[in-house]
Amino acid sequence: MKSKWIIITIALVLIGAIVFASFFVLLRLNSIPIVDRETVFQAAVWDNFAGGNFSGFMPFSELAKYGDFGIGTLDGLDGEMIALNGEFYHIATDGKPKQIEPSAKTPYADVTYFEADKTQTVAGLNYTKLQSYLDNSLPSKTAIYAIKVTGTFDYVLARSPPKQYPPYPLLSQALINQTVWTFSNVSATAIGFWFPNSLKGVDYVGYHLHIISDDRTTGGHLIDCIISNATVQIDQINRYNLILP
Ligand SMILES: [Zn+2]
Repeated sequence: MKSKWIIITIALVLIGAIVFASFFVLLRLNSIPIVDRETVFQAAVWDNFAGGNFSGFMPFSELAKYGDFGIGTLDGLDGEMIALNGEFYHIATDGKPKQIEPSAKTPYADVTYFEADKTQTVAGLNYTKLQSYLDNSLPSKTAIYAIKVTGTFDYVLARSPPKQYPPYPLLSQALINQTVWTFSNVSATAIGFWFPNSLKGVDYVGYHLHIISDDRTTGGHLIDCIISNATVQIDQINRYNLILP
């Protein structure tokens, strides 16, 4: 008689434990985010975009779900886009960053959630030397890297292309009319990506950085610079999510 009650008690405790555990498993499944933070999310194939497909197809409200850090452009190749800490800026040919409306659409963008794997400091480098420095610090040449350079720039040469209208030209033709400008002695952040050779045509191979000043008064696509001193951070990313127009 006593052993019967022991068995019933054990059975009830086991059932209770299973119900309790199932509850937490369900809770955990519900809380897993849909977006993997260690993924680069790209809107459009580079070669297709560079071939003149400048029609925006993804709203920034949607793009923002996949990352708070990134680069790209707006509908009609309308200037440069830079996203930093979840703020998306449009830098048109006047060189002045303006926050992007969530309903605006991008024809091409790369975003991710930046989480630094490696942090180093540099001083006195121009853009070519920065790229050589980064070449030597990328752990592997097969992954994608998100790059963030935060510091003081003695000099920056930046650009932005004017908005294009259909029938769209090739990117190379549109960039003939780009506006370039310089700024100096500015605290700024340059961000972007390095894509490996294996993704040639899918995205731009090599370094592609955009820059924005800390006071958000200037920026653009980075053509050249002289870094006074800066923190260089890289985030190695092995997952890739491509959305086609
Ligand atoms: Zn660019």
